[in-house]
Amino acid sequence: MGLGRRKDKASRPWRLSAKLLIVSSVATVIGFSTICASVMIDMRHGEGELARQTLENLASGIDADISRNVELFDLSLRAVASSMVMPEIDQVSKPIRQLILFDHAATAKHFGAIQVFDADGKLTVDASTLDPVPENRSDEEFFQVHRDRPDAGLFISRPMLHHGAYAIVLSRRITDADGRFRGVVAGSIRFSYFHDLIGRLNLGPGDIITVFRRDGTVIMRTPFDLDMIGKNLGDLPGVKRALSEPSGSYSGIATATHPSRLYVWRDGTRPLVVMVGKPWDDILRLWRTEATRIGAIMLALILFVLAVTLFLAREIGRRAVAEDKLEELATTDALTGLKNRRKFDTAIDAEWRRAARHKTPLALLMIDADYFKAYNDTFGHQAGDEVLVGIAICISDAVRRAGDCAARYGGEEFAVLLPGLSSLEALSVAETIRLKVQQWSGDPSITTVSIGVASLTPDTTTDWSGLVNAADKALYAAKAGGRNRSVMASIPKLSLVA
Ligand code: GH3
Ligand code: MG
Ligand code: MG
Repeated sequence: MGLGRRKDKASRPWRLSAKLLIVSSVATVIGFSTICASVMIDMRHGEGELARQTLENLASGIDADISRNVELFDLSLRAVASSMVMPEIDQVSKPIRQLILFDHAATAKHFGAIQVFDADGKLTVDASTLDPVPENRSDEEFFQVHRDRPDAGLFISRPMLHHGAYAIVLSRRITDADGRFRGVVAGSIRFSYFHDLIGRLNLGPGDIITVFRRDGTVIMRTPFDLDMIGKNLGDLPGVKRALSEPSGSYSGIATATHPSRLYVWRDGTRPLVVMVGKPWDDILRLWRTEATRIGAIMLALILFVLAVTLFLAREIGRRAVAEDKLEELATTDALTGLKNRRKFDTAIDAEWRRAARHKTPLALLMIDADYFKAYNDTFGHQAGDEVLVGIAICISDAVRRAGDCAARYGGEEFAVLLPGLSSLEALSVAETIRLKVQQWSGDPSITTVSIGVASLTPDTTTDWSGLVNAADKALYAAKAGGRNRSVMASIPKLSLVA
């Protein structure tokens, strides 16, 4: 009946606001999480970029130092190589020759003495002594390379044991004016140079520095690993790139023995390529701590917001139920369970305006118990109350449409609003009620009701009091006509729908 419809209307705003609350909370949470995640991703990129720059600077510094020393040493080798083919060199004494060849030669604690080998590989001149111990180096790779390839230029050997210490040998071909091979000039740079150079750097425990020859041979590696020295890693994809691209970086994949690292290389197209690597774990350590901290705080906040939201939504739901109950209590007649007078007044007002809008009739039944005072006097007030409840049940049974409104008008009077019904249709409902009451009460104290019926289609000039008056008048007519009957109003001034 009308009750259900009204309940829906009352609870809708509540349900809507609970849903709105949940939706806006979830949207806020998603929004904040997205912002937070994007900031964290930006920070991660930033850390990676910073590490790349730092590694690039490190590689640059090492590369510059190595290149400077190699160039310096190479200058000396070139000077010796060109002096060796001067015809006069064989005519001067050994000390003079030593002066001519090595006076400007680079000397440093990590540089080995420059030696000259003739076309057969025999040692002929040694910067460290006037009378070198005879030796033949024709088997060495550096000798064979220069002998076989006139264009070899500066050749850097694989790391080798040289005079009792690990070193790389730098060598140049001696070519005479006719282009003939006249021998090789060679000198060594000891590994102590690299140890010294790298020892000065402040490296993390997982950092790796590798110096490659252009063919991918490992010349030096930190942390020092003898097994790696001299190995050719030119086939590794990262090394391949490092040897072919001037400078850049790549991220190595983690294996069982190697963590994932960021590798950066610098290569000024010099004979040696420097590559430095740092584990991503080290690069992102600070970021991870920060991300975990912020993530945990965000998660706690999200859980808090969601919990509060759910709690509030539940409260809103509870309130809605309570409001519905209150509304029902406030509009229900306590004795009969029908709508009360207050509700009836609101309902007739609303239905009147609705009927006016849609130009449809609105019918009203005014129902009054017959000789009820007498009933009360005979059977007592309580029995009278029971009869009122019985009449209410009969009315409810007959009035079942959603828009209908059955109310206790006051005392032993009831009113029923029937939107859309003509006088005749309403009269039929009235008769149903009247007969139901009559049947229900039965002997020995038959209770009957008299019913006044009116139906009008409202126009803009009338209000609903006209309808109530008409129904009232019809009720009086029913009483006057002998009671236990339904009478249709005749309203000359208003248009009767029948
Ligand atoms: P009629 O309407 O047929 O002319 O006679 P009546 O005796 O019903 O007339 P009246 O309107 O004078 O009497 C109404 C009586 O209804 C008065 C009162 O005793 C009784 N009454 C009103 N409200 C209640 C109620 O809530 N409970 C009970 N038991 N009786 C009520
Ligand atoms: Mg009365
Ligand atoms: Mg009465």
